[in-house]
Amino acid sequence: MTYDALITGAGAVGLATALKLQERRPDWSVIVVDKADRVAAHQTGHNSGVIHSGVYYPPGGTRARLCVKGYHELLRFCEEENIPYQLTGKFIVATKEAELPGLKKIHKRGIANGLTDLRWMTGDEMREQSPHTGGIAALWVPQAGIICYTAVSEAYRARIEDRGGVVQLNTEVTGCQRENDAYVIRTSAGELRARHLINCGGLQSDLLTKMTGHQPEVQILPFRGEYYELGPEAAKKVKHLIYPVPDPAFPFLGVHLTPMIDGRVEAGPNAVLAFAREGYNNKTVNLRELAETIKYSGFQALARKYWRKGAKELHRSFSKQAFRDSLLPLMPDLQLSDLRTGGAGVRAMAVGPSGEMVDDFLFYKGERLVNVANAPSPAATAGLAIGEAVVSELLRE
Ligand SMILES: Cc1cc2nc3c(=O)[nH]c(=O)nc-3n(C[C@H](O)[C@H](O)[C@H](O)COP(=O)(O)OP(=O)(O)OC[C@H]3O[C@@H](n4cnc5c(N)ncnc54)[C@H](O)[C@@H]3O)c2cc1C
Repeated sequence: MTYDALITGAGAVGLATALKLQERRPDWSVIVVDKADRVAAHQTGHNSGVIHSGVYYPPGGTRARLCVKGYHELLRFCEEENIPYQLTGKFIVATKEAELPGLKKIHKRGIANGLTDLRWMTGDEMREQSPHTGGIAALWVPQAGIICYTAVSEAYRARIEDRGGVVQLNTEVTGCQRENDAYVIRTSAGELRARHLINCGGLQSDLLTKMTGHQPEVQILPFRGEYYELGPEAAKKVKHLIYPVPDPAFPFLGVHLTPMIDGRVEAGPNAVLAFAREGYNNKTVNLRELAETIKYSGFQALARKYWRKGAKELHRSFSKQAFRDSLLPLMPDLQLSDLRTGGAGVRAMAVGPSGEMVDDFLFYKGERLVNVANAPSPAATAGLAIGEAVVSELLRE
C-alpha cells in the first residue's frame, strides 16, 4: 500500500507530528517508523524530564513561541491522558554578582514571553522556600515542572494507534527515492511507500535530510550529558528545580538539580563530546562517526574556540569531585558521598561549517516533504507545537 504520510522517528517530535497530522487530515493513513525497539529510545527518553516554561528564549523567536504554546498543549494532553506531572517551580540562581545582569535579562524575557508571577528574590528570600540552595539572588519561575517524557511518548503512540495510525518499531530508514507521486522508502524491514515524508530523526537528522537529496547547512555533533543521582538524604533537600544562570555563549543550561517525577533527584547534565551519535558512555566509540565529527570544519572551529571549556568538561566527566565542586554554589552542603552515578543522554547539536551552534528549530521543506533538521531543548516540552508547525509546513504547497 502507499501511505498518505510516513514519519521517521518515534521521539517526542515525530510522534507529536503524527498526532497533529491526524488532526488536520483525519482521512490520511499515517505510519511512524523507528529503528529502535521502543518509542522515546534516544533524546526524548534520556532527558532531564523538565517541562520548560519558555522563560529563557528571545521574545518573538520560534523557540519562545513554540515552547509557550507547546507547554499549554502538553499540560492539556497530560490532563486528558492522566499522565502524572508536577509544577514544582524553578529557581534560576545567581551565585555571584557577575551573573546578575544575565538573570535580569532572563527575567525580562520571561515577562515578554507572557509568563506571569515570576518573582525576583534575594538569596535569603529564596532560602525561606529552599533552605539548602546557595546563591545571592534568584528568579522564581512557578510554571516550570517535571514529567516523564517516555510516558508522554507512550501516550502519543496509543492515541496515534487509536486513530488508526501505525507505529512500526525495529524499522531503520536506509534510503529514499521519488517515484511518480510517492516516496519509496528503503528500510531494514523492507520497502515502504508514502505520498508525504517527514523526518524527525534527532541525532540522525542531518543524515536523513541527505537521504532526501537535500544538503543540510549543519552537521549534527553529539554532546553527551551525564547525570549523577542524589542519595536519599540529599534528595530530600531538593523540592524545586534549581538551575544556574546559563552561560550565554552556550546553548546548554548548565548542570542543575532536578527532582524527577519518580521521586529521584538528578544532578546534571554536563556536556562532553560523545564518540558516537548514540554514545551514552565514554566507552562507546563509533570510529566512522567520530572521524566524520573530527573532519568537520564546524567541529574544528568549535574546538579551536572552546578547547579550554571542552577540556574542563572532559575533566568533570571523569572526576566526581570536579562534578560536585561545580554544583557547590547551588547546593553548598552537597557531599561527595551524596552523588551516585546516574544515566546519560546525548544531545543532537546542530553546528554550521564555521562552528556556529544553531539553537533554534530548523526545518527544511521539499515537495511533500519536511526534514526536521534541528529540534533542540525544549523540543520535548514543545513537541505538540512543533508538530503543528511541521504539519503546516508540509501542507503549505
Ligand atoms: C540530556 C538532555 C536533556 C534534555 N532535557 C530536556 C528537558 O528537560 N526538557 C525538554 O523539553 N527537552 C529536553 N531535552 C531536549 C529534548 O529531549 C529533545 O529536544 C527532544 O527529545 C527531541 O525529540 P526528537 O523526537 O526530535 O528526537 P529523539 O527523541 O532523539 O527521536 C529521534 C528518533 O529518530 C529515530 N531515528 C533516527 N534515525 C532513524 C532512521 N534512519 N530510521 C528510523 N528511525 C530513526 C531514533 O531512533 C529516535 O527514536 C534534553 C535533551 C537531552 C539530550
